[in-house]
This record gives sequence, C-alpha cells and structure tokens, in this order.
Amino acid sequence: MIQVAIILSTGNELTSGRTVDTNANFIADRLGAIGVEVAAVMTVGDVSERLRWAWETAIERADLVISTGGLGPTSDDLTTETVAQVTGRKLWQSAPVLEAIRERFARSGRQMPPNNAKQALFPEGALIIPNELGTAPGFRLEVERRGGGKAHLVTLPGVPREMKRMMEATVLPWVGQARGHDKVFATRVFQTFGISESALDEAVSGLIAPGEGRVAFRASFPQISLRIVVEASPAEAERRVEELAGRVRQRVGQFVFAEDDATMEEVVARLLAERRLKLALAESCTGGLISHRLTNVPGSSRFHLGSFVTYANELKQTVLGVRAKTLAEHGAVSEPCVREMVAGALERSQADLALAVSGIAGPDGGTPDRPVGTVWFALAAGPSLVARRYQLQGTRDWIKLVASQVGLDWLRRYALGAPVIEAAAFRR
Ligand code: ATP
Ligand code: MG
Repeated sequence: MIQVAIILSTGNELTSGRTVDTNANFIADRLGAIGVEVAAVMTVGDVSERLRWAWETAIERADLVISTGGLGPTSDDLTTETVAQVTGRKLWQSAPVLEAIRERFARSGRQMPPNNAKQALFPEGALIIPNELGTAPGFRLEVERRGGGKAHLVTLPGVPREMKRMMEATVLPWVGQARGHDKVFATRVFQTFGISESALDEAVSGLIAPGEGRVAFRASFPQISLRIVVEASPAEAERRVEELAGRVRQRVGQFVFAEDDATMEEVVARLLAERRLKLALAESCTGGLISHRLTNVPGSSRFHLGSFVTYANELKQTVLGVRAKTLAEHGAVSEPCVREMVAGALERSQADLALAVSGIAGPDGGTPDRPVGTVWFALAAGPSLVARRYQLQGTRDWIKLVASQVGLDWLRRYALGAPVIEAAAFRR
C-alpha cells in the first residue's frame, strides 16, 4: 500500500544552488493530488557515499521513493549503480534499450558514444519506465525493507520535460493502481485572477464538506489556483467532483480564467486566434512584458501584430500621436494619456483591438494623488474605448508583472464579452 513518499532530488547543480528544484515541486504536487503524502524532499549532490546514505534512509521511511537526476551517461551519473548497491542487486543490460539508444543517435546522424551504453543498465528485477523524449529511461523496483514491509523505488531523469512526461504517462497511473482499494481520485483545477488567496479561501470555505473532498490552494503569483480532489469509487468520483466544481464555479467563477494548467497568456492567445482578432499594444510601465508573454505562446503571430513600447513621453507623442498638451496638463500616467495611447495604437496598427498601459512601477516617482502602483489601462476596439485606474501594490517587478496580468485579463474578458474586473474588486 503506497501512502507515504520521499522525493530524492540529486545533482550538484541543486546542492550548489545553481538550479532550483522544480522537479520536487511538480512531483509533490501530483502525488498530493492523488492522496499520497510526501514525508520529505531530500536533495543530495552527485557523490556516491551521500547518495547511498540518502537512498538507504529514504527506503526505510517511505513506501515510495521517487528520484530525479543521475541517469545520464557520465561518470557523475550515479543513480542506477547506487540503487543496485543499496538493494544488493546485480546490473543487467537491456538489449532493446541499448538498441533504442543507438537508433536515437543514428536518427540524428551520430554514432552512440560508448558511455551511453551505461544508460541501458538496470538493477535486477527492475521494470523499465520508457522515456519518449530523451535517451535515459527510468525504472521502478520493489524492495523489501529491513524494518519490514516493501518500498517501491522509482528513478527518473533530471531533465524536467522528460521527467514530467514519464510521471504522467507511466508513474502516476501505476501509483494510482498500486494504492489499491476500489477508490480512485478525481480532480478539478481552477486558475484564478483578481482575487487574493485569502479572499478565495474565504469565498469557498464551507462550500465543500471535509467528507466530500479536499480543497488545496497554490499561489504562483500572480496566478492563484484552487484544486479540488475527490476520493471515491470509480462510478462516484467523477460525478461528485463535477458537482463540487459546479459549486466552485457558482461562487468564484468570475475570477476563473482556466480549468486546466493553462497560463493567462495561453488562454488569451487561444481566444484571440479563435475569434480572428488582431491585437496591438501600447506599453509604457510594462516595458513590453505583455508582448513578451504573448509571444512566448507558439503561434502568436496569428493574432499579435506587436507592441509600441513607448516609455518616454517624446515617443508617446511621435509614435502614438499623444498630444503635448495632454502630457503637460495631465501627465503620462493619466486617463487622457492612456486614451490617446490606445487610440493611436489602434489607428496606426490597423488592429481590431488595442490595449494601452501606463503606470508608476516605483520605487520612486509616486505623488500623494498618484502613488507608486497607480496604473491606467485602456482598451479600444472600433469606436468603443474603456479606461480604468488600478492601484497595485508591491515592488517594481511585482507591479510590472501584475500590470501585465491585468492587461492580459482585460483582453481575455473582451474576447469573451465579459466586463473588466473593477479596480475595487481587485484587492490583495
Ligand atoms: P541526462 O541524461 O540529461 O544527463 P540526468 O538524469 O543525468 O539526465 P541531470 O544531469 O541530473 O539528469 O540533469 C539534467 C538537467 O535537468 C540539468 O539541466 C539540470 O539542471 C536539470 N535538473 C536536474 N534536476 C533538476 C531538478 N530537481 N529540478 C529542475 N531541474 C533539474
Ligand atoms: Mg546528467
């Protein structure tokens, strides 16, 4: 029975602080979603003796040990041999895996270096976990604990993309099954924006009784997600999770922008492309960040014409046609200025839709009636034009990030025909 897991992250890049351990984060999140408790995350460098110690410790304390890293071809990739030593298993070479690695090299016109043969070695009794995206497969192995009972060991490569695919395709379905009994887990996730974590917690508290399911929050600012997990019989689980999801939608639906793992920019990209809307931006305080985020989405050229990053007043005048009088009388962070910015962007780009942002990111430049964090937004489409002032809080990079999120959310709401979130509702 798998109830408790330990995650073992290996690699000198982790212990030295050069790389942030996002693998453990992902694995813990996914295990939690199917009801496996993570007792510890251990991080160890590529040192034989320390790896042995970590594996021995983890095996005695967890039903499931999942390690990442150290499956590569080099001499500092020690995972397989460490597991063999600690469990007293011999290594054997898998002919099909060796062949697959050879072929992978051949496909890119290269000869397999001799080192890579190491990646076809497995401890006796191991079941191979295929790696569709890289050369090193992982494996899983069941061992008897000295203290009694069994531990299941899983090894995965360090490369996050490969590790994630192997978790989703092979490891999680297997763990779900191995957890046994006739219960399954059904989950729903909601990505929200415009409501703080505590306000969201308050809004949904009491909505789901402890016996019905669990609610978990996760804040990866500026995005806050809420996940509901139901453990029930296969016939019951989906029905119940859908019912609970309905309650959540009713209570906080206006803040939900996705019901999967999509980011705000991915949602906006999908909506604008579907609706064949061409977009232009006029960015001042966000310095091109909104455009950057949208162009991170593959295929963004289908809807995104570009951004006028007009930081200086002169450029707002020459590039967007903002009037000198407007700037002199009201300043760049003002309603008249964003209105002229958005009108200029729309007209000069011939887009269907334009968004302008102008604000004070700080730490200097605030005044009593226009403090740091004051950000004006304007959206124009055809003859219609909306402008609103928001008061954001935080450091300079935070204000830029939240402003980009507000801007993207405006685009999303426009595409859906929904009103913008009023600044009053937007509180931390
Ligand atoms: P490879 O076959 O590529 O050598 P490997 O299993 O040996 O795979 P590592 O060499 O440990 O894996 O790591 C490969 C890459 O994955 C490195 O760029 C490393 O920074 C990254 N990586 C490793 N572990 C983690 C982790 N826990 N979180 C995030 N990134 C990681
Ligand atoms: Mg390596």
